[in-house]
Amino acid sequence: MIHRTPADPANDPARFVRPELRRLSAYHLDLRPARHKLDQNEVPWDLPLRLKRAVAASLIETDWARYPDFHADALRQDLAALHGHPWEGVLVGNGSNELLSMALTALVPAGGEVLGAEPSFGLYRSFVLKACGIPRFIPSRADLALPADEIEAEIERNPRRPLLLCTPNNPTGDALPPDRIAYYLERLEAPLLLDNAYGEFCRWDYRPLLAEYPNLILFRTFSKAWSLAGLRLGYLLADPRLVTELIKIKLPYNLGHAAAAAGRTVLAAREEEERRVRLIVARRAQWARMLIEEGFEVFPSEANFLLVRCTPVERAAEVRDGLAARGILVRDVSGYAGLAGCLRVSVGSGAALRDTHLALAEIRQGVVARPWVPKDKDKGPKGLQGLQGQEQQGPRQRVGIVERATGETRIRLAVSLDGGPRRIEVPNGFFAHMLNALATHGGLGFELEAVGDTHVDLHHTVEDVGIAFGEALAAALGERRGIVRFAHAYAPLDEALARAVVDLSGRGTFAYTAPRDVAAAWVTADFPLTLVADFFQAVADRGRLTLHLDVLAARNGHHAAEAAFKAVALALRQAVALRGSGDVPSTKGTLSA
Ligand code: PMP
Repeated sequence: MIHRTPADPANDPARFVRPELRRLSAYHLDLRPARHKLDQNEVPWDLPLRLKRAVAASLIETDWARYPDFHADALRQDLAALHGHPWEGVLVGNGSNELLSMALTALVPAGGEVLGAEPSFGLYRSFVLKACGIPRFIPSRADLALPADEIEAEIERNPRRPLLLCTPNNPTGDALPPDRIAYYLERLEAPLLLDNAYGEFCRWDYRPLLAEYPNLILFRTFSKAWSLAGLRLGYLLADPRLVTELIKIKLPYNLGHAAAAAGRTVLAAREEEERRVRLIVARRAQWARMLIEEGFEVFPSEANFLLVRCTPVERAAEVRDGLAARGILVRDVSGYAGLAGCLRVSVGSGAALRDTHLALAEIRQGVVARPWVPKDKDKGPKGLQGLQGQEQQGPRQRVGIVERATGETRIRLAVSLDGGPRRIEVPNGFFAHMLNALATHGGLGFELEAVGDTHVDLHHTVEDVGIAFGEALAAALGERRGIVRFAHAYAPLDEALARAVVDLSGRGTFAYTAPRDVAAAWVTADFPLTLVADFFQAVADRGRLTLHLDVLAARNGHHAAEAAFKAVALALRQAVALRGSGDVPSTKGTLSA
């Protein structure tokens, strides 16, 4: 035997991997920190803290030394109830990816062709090859619509090949109507694997076809509409007789306690998912309008992302890099078949929409980017991270965390009276500017994510952020021991002057005046000055403080509002300051009632 060193290329163990798999390229993505991550078709909102806590609590109750249920039957039953499908026909896995790959392994005869479309989800080719099948993926038409007629012709030619279809299709966003799918199902003498990862955002529902066509397998995921991409959870719906067989291929215990608990928790709070979907679908239209305005060709989408084409096609790299330099990541799909010059953009938050619009305008005008440098909060997982951590540490940190969800708004706010990270995401630039002034001059740590029915008007959002801020303040103040309590401040802004007098009294009182000629002014096209009073009324009520706020002079609404926010911030900063003694500054002995 010839002796070879381990490093000898002839000794490379990679040679044992099947050649058709070695030729694949590894799934790769730019995972650098970003201000707005619009490259993975995720939704922009983390799960509400209340639900995360519920998942954590149920996990703590669980015995981790024990294996989970073989197939997570409780979750299968919850999903069956949601979809009106027999639970024996539901299978859950570590993301729908795992189930797609497993099902193909079970269903593709060795060396058999699998029909599909191109461009589509990048992993399909590797799934088919892994299953020892041969991808026969049909190119999309010039308008990037799914090649529906061509697929039909292929089925006519040989109906015994499994069909793997992504609808709505990633990355084009196109979806086929259910009657077309039914037509395929009628004619196929093979399974139709329908990847419905973006189904929640689509106008069409394929689930009713399940009862009629035993050869349909529908794949869905918790990674998109349900905000659980990080926990890896997906499922399939199919005929129970088929699932009985697939269960033999699927590994037992493939789902850990964590993903199963998260799935059950979010299903029990379904209104959160519905709200997210409504918002994304409404935002999708806003994003499309903005991208058209910025000169892109925008393809119609039934998903939570939009495919755009740049002209000339070489511009795609410039746009991608220009956005990345400004902390905004989009997916460059220009290398996919038929997608020269194309980028895929997730439908993001309102703040992302504004920032992306601004960035695209700058790129168009050739403005050099001020490089975006990630702050610590951007490096870790998103979501009130810094302040949340503080909440748990002792001695008592003066932090208040509030989550509110109503039919009109959804708000997560963490406030620290002793400073800390600041991040403000609200769907209005002027309001964000005011809150920034409040946090900065108040010396507060302030992490806020707010979404609301701003298509109606701004009022609910502003008032509910006021409520959340008041409640966070009250929580952070606790028993109000050792604080200064009374304070006042004047804040000028050029000709404008505002005065705020604060007493952290434990009772909510608000008194407000403004010069008659600006009191009803519009600060911006959608922000009347009256909202300033509404905001602080809510803060005083919920924060249980007495606040006298007077705009003493102002020429316009903008100056009046800004001076008012600054005056309150300066007064609050002094009132919440610690005196060094831990007593309650009240002759009654309590301010916490
Ligand atoms: N199918 C499609 C079309 C997808 O785009 C994705 C994820 N991007 C998946 C499946 C995978 O979903 P999961 O996170 O459930 O594995």
